[in-house]
Amino acid sequence: MPVRPLRFASTLGLGVLAAACAGNNVTATPTTTGGTTTGGTTTGSDALAPYYLTFALCADSQGPDCTKLRLGDTQLSTTAAGVGRLFSCNAANPGAPGSIRARITWIDDATSTWNLLRKPFLPSGTFAPASGSYTLQEANGTRTIQVNNLPVDGRIGDWPMSRYAALTAIDPNPGTPAARSYSFTLPVAPTVNVTPTCVSLGAIGVTTNGVVIYNAADARGNDAVAHEIVDAHGGHPAQTDYHYHFVPERLDRAPLADGHSAVIGYIRDGFAIYGYKGVGGGELRNTDLDECHGHSHGTLGYHYHATIEYPYTIGCYRGTPR
Ligand SMILES: [Zn+2]
Ligand SMILES: [Zn+2]
Repeated sequence: MPVRPLRFASTLGLGVLAAACAGNNVTATPTTTGGTTTGGTTTGSDALAPYYLTFALCADSQGPDCTKLRLGDTQLSTTAAGVGRLFSCNAANPGAPGSIRARITWIDDATSTWNLLRKPFLPSGTFAPASGSYTLQEANGTRTIQVNNLPVDGRIGDWPMSRYAALTAIDPNPGTPAARSYSFTLPVAPTVNVTPTCVSLGAIGVTTNGVVIYNAADARGNDAVAHEIVDAHGGHPAQTDYHYHFVPERLDRAPLADGHSAVIGYIRDGFAIYGYKGVGGGELRNTDLDECHGHSHGTLGYHYHATIEYPYTIGCYRGTPR
């Protein structure tokens, strides 16, 4: 299998990201969707109710309040890292295509928060791409991960979203996921740098489900998880390039003996990213983690964690990205 250098993949990712959220005047036509009939201009909360989800992470008192998540739009910096922020290599680009803000009902500008439980998600349907693949090999201090960027567990929404008028009226993303080879060549024992590094657009890591991770920002530099509609399994396409901006909670399974989450993926600097829970099984908040969204304890050494608040995956690279 030809190995695509990650640098090339990342550059390509930047290009497709801008095009992916293209608000290129996709016309929403009334259609019957997964359980509800919606009109092209009906975007009220009642019309969206069939698309709401519940999350185990939101069902207890641990971790952030899912109904009042801090909006990350103003938490992007191109100059410095900070707890709860994204140190981005790319400045915000307010003119880039994306969701139609006036139709987003789950963001509260007055409090700069958003409600995960009142955000719609594209359901499953008839869309059935090729099977996902994920291989991991370790040799001579190098970990090589190869994927086709489709979910190994087969769980994906009914793309393209344009078939769901109520959703595409808010987020006119025209993309449809397709297989794409990625190869990550990472150090098994990466080094913690004194100075963290900014996070690029495109793939910043890969999950054990065979799907790449993008950072917390959309093409405009806004909070992607708050603004963009993804499917009920956590991902969406940039043209054909499927990706997660946050970690689907189903990937956070089979915790370690002490209750700490297991590895759910690897970041481009070689450090692992674990799920939502720390030692003892408690759900983590940003304040439990450093500015890159990681910490070091016990035998795990330095590692990142997922949280259900911005920046969701990593805030900066603690090691050297490959
Ligand atoms: Zn995206
Ligand atoms: Zn940890």
